[in-house]
Amino acid sequence: MDTENLKTAAGSTDITDYGNKDRAPLPITMQAMVMDAAGQSLVSKMLPLPVPNEEQVLVRVIACGVCRTDLHIIDSELARPKLPLILGHEIIGTVEKTGTKVTSLKQGDLIGIPWLGYTCGHCPYCLKDQENLCENALFTGYTIDGGYAEYTVAFQKYCFRLEPSYDNASAAPLLCAGLIGYRSYQMVGTAAKKIGFYGFGAAAHILIQIARFQGKEIYAFTRDGDLEAQSFATRLGAVWSGNSTDSPPVKLDAAIIFAPAGELVPKALKDVDKGCPVICGGIHMSDVPSFPYQLLWEERSVRSVANLTRKDGDDFFGLLSSVKIKTETRLFPLKQANEALAAVRNGDVEGAAVLIM
Ligand SMILES: [Zn+2]
Ligand SMILES: [Zn+2]
Repeated sequence: MDTENLKTAAGSTDITDYGNKDRAPLPITMQAMVMDAAGQSLVSKMLPLPVPNEEQVLVRVIACGVCRTDLHIIDSELARPKLPLILGHEIIGTVEKTGTKVTSLKQGDLIGIPWLGYTCGHCPYCLKDQENLCENALFTGYTIDGGYAEYTVAFQKYCFRLEPSYDNASAAPLLCAGLIGYRSYQMVGTAAKKIGFYGFGAAAHILIQIARFQGKEIYAFTRDGDLEAQSFATRLGAVWSGNSTDSPPVKLDAAIIFAPAGELVPKALKDVDKGCPVICGGIHMSDVPSFPYQLLWEERSVRSVANLTRKDGDDFFGLLSSVKIKTETRLFPLKQANEALAAVRNGDVEGAAVLIM
């Protein structure tokens, strides 16, 4: 136990201020898995409960998904994280306390906390309805603390209020794999029918369910020889699955690359038809190798997806009221966050890894 943190907690946290009369008082400290520095394992610590500011809520975390982005942060592929940092941006939890200016949420609400944690509202991108590109954005589990902990705080306007049926670990992957995956999926356009998914993990296994509901054909590409992932894709309704180096049986109307492998860009361009897009859905990718202009010719395009907007979340959760999504999850206790990250890194998870508190 971290006695220094306990001292801080006792000095800075007024527990009489927490909770209302008919709820159990909140603890003074919480368990958290902390990244002290990039390239190192997370360290289990007892920390003082975070204190919400006037626009924030204090949230008891029920579950938090483990995203590949968390690995990119640990591996220094994303620059300048907050340090020390509590990772995690696929958070399901309940509101325990509200800041003095919080009006949209109340104690007891079930909420989801996504990657986009805050935007400024006045930069050129916010003013153009592109808050996903905000110059002053804060990101959950990257530039502000996230959900690899028993409690966290979040700005009220960036939380999604959820139906009670989402009160479980299987909902956690919807917050990033589902939501940012859905932003990628929307970028292929409604006319695309034959869609390639490159990398069949957390995002693809959610999106294939939406795509099938909408009558699309999904072609699933996995790491070469990953027969388990290929049969997983087939089980979820892919019309074809194979190695990322294989050619699909038809020309595709669109490709979405979920795997962080730059060599998939020219490969996907080869697989799509004239005039069709290749969408890069990840926040980080290894270098894209040079390729002949011929692959891009005939109005093929390559586009990346960055972050999410609150509207994406509203659209996505709105859609889920008519599409029943079943996520596949492998659960880990909070203290096994390092094991969960290793499993994601090694491709040992069918669907998504989720920490439970
Ligand atoms: Zn902004
Ligand atoms: Zn993510």
